[in-house]
Amino acid sequence: MSGTVSLLPERATAKAGCTEPAVIRERGQHEVFCGLTGIVWMHRKIQDAFFLVVGSRTCAHLMQSAAGVMIFAEPRFGTAVMEERDLAGMADANEELDKVVSRLLERRPDIKLLFLVGSCPSEVIKLDLSRAASRLSAQYSPDVRVLNYTGSGIETTFTEGEDRCLASLVPELPQSRSKAPELLVVGALADVVEDQFARLFGAMGLGKVAFLPPRRSRDLPAVGPNTKMLLAQPFLAETARMLGERGATHIPAPFPLGAEGTTAWLKAAADAFGVDPMTFRSATASAEARARRALEPFRETLAGRRIFFMPDSQLEIPLARMLSRELGMEPVEIGTPFIHKAHLSEELALLPEGVTLSEGQDVDRQLDRVRAASPDLTVCGLGLANPLEAEGLTTKWSIELLFTPIQGYDQASDLAGLFARPFDRRTRLRV
Ligand code: SF4
Repeated sequence: MSGTVSLLPERATAKAGCTEPAVIRERGQHEVFCGLTGIVWMHRKIQDAFFLVVGSRTCAHLMQSAAGVMIFAEPRFGTAVMEERDLAGMADANEELDKVVSRLLERRPDIKLLFLVGSCPSEVIKLDLSRAASRLSAQYSPDVRVLNYTGSGIETTFTEGEDRCLASLVPELPQSRSKAPELLVVGALADVVEDQFARLFGAMGLGKVAFLPPRRSRDLPAVGPNTKMLLAQPFLAETARMLGERGATHIPAPFPLGAEGTTAWLKAAADAFGVDPMTFRSATASAEARARRALEPFRETLAGRRIFFMPDSQLEIPLARMLSRELGMEPVEIGTPFIHKAHLSEELALLPEGVTLSEGQDVDRQLDRVRAASPDLTVCGLGLANPLEAEGLTTKWSIELLFTPIQGYDQASDLAGLFARPFDRRTRLRV
């Protein structure tokens, strides 16, 4: 078993209605990281949490290579490696897990929230991590809360790990008794981005804004029927569904990528809270103008370039919208693992006419389409980038889009830079 997932081939093409682009739906073999990868950015966000993967050496290697260079202090994740004895049922895996947790918590009193993260091996032997989490929570509360979710490649792809992690937090959120509407921003954002958004919301007069996940586990935001949720990431279907069950309502919006996307995202929140247009403009106009100016130099490199997205991070549709509308790139095919229409309808409406969308993957067929289209840039996972580069295609690793702060006005040029850099690199290699 490895860090990538394979499924049996099967394919269907669906024609959409006249107002929506046609979608190629594929359910074949796909090349994408499993949900464990989300730990790499989630562990930096919740500063008193620890992610304990209950998995195999393969899982440990995936985590190490995905996060390797980013570990600079005492890490906030690790792997309880299941040995052959566990997998063969010769040892009591629960007993072993209890020992690992006890050693960890003794050594690390800074840990206040412990996630037990399921993997393919723990699922195969049907280790019940939710019972383990309840048992350990009872033992270690109130000092440490223990939760569980799965990051296994059988159940999840890449960014779904964050969705499952946040969904596991939803039942823990306190009940809001507020009579006034409250804004909840959902999705992990780099601290610097979160601070910028908090300032912008403050300038609009929205003082009470909460973020999920919080930076500290004791600061879990309250939720209730007066909560309005604004999604900061497009891959949070399960989290949003569970927040909806707690009474929260969704604010439909594009995602905050690029100058235009950020303004539209902020405006959706402003409208939901009745902020008047003048106040909104004075809060956002100068930051938006700065972002537009910062994007200008990148248009020279990127306008007219044809871009192909392989399905990977679920950020593909918002990225294609931003790159086409703000930088003049031409999306050839926008592949994405899932198209969650309730969360993407505002984005879909902004895509260029006639663009091809694909949902799911049949990797060989899709690679044939990449070769036939011969795009200027292909956005894909690490596993596909090297072979495509060897064939002379220019690629961008989609994983970088999760590891780099890209949301908001001040990050718009960094986002454009990520797409311009592969062209610079190729030009330099040719010199
Ligand atoms: S969870 Fe599964 S797919 Fe992910 S690294 Fe472990 S064995 Fe591989």
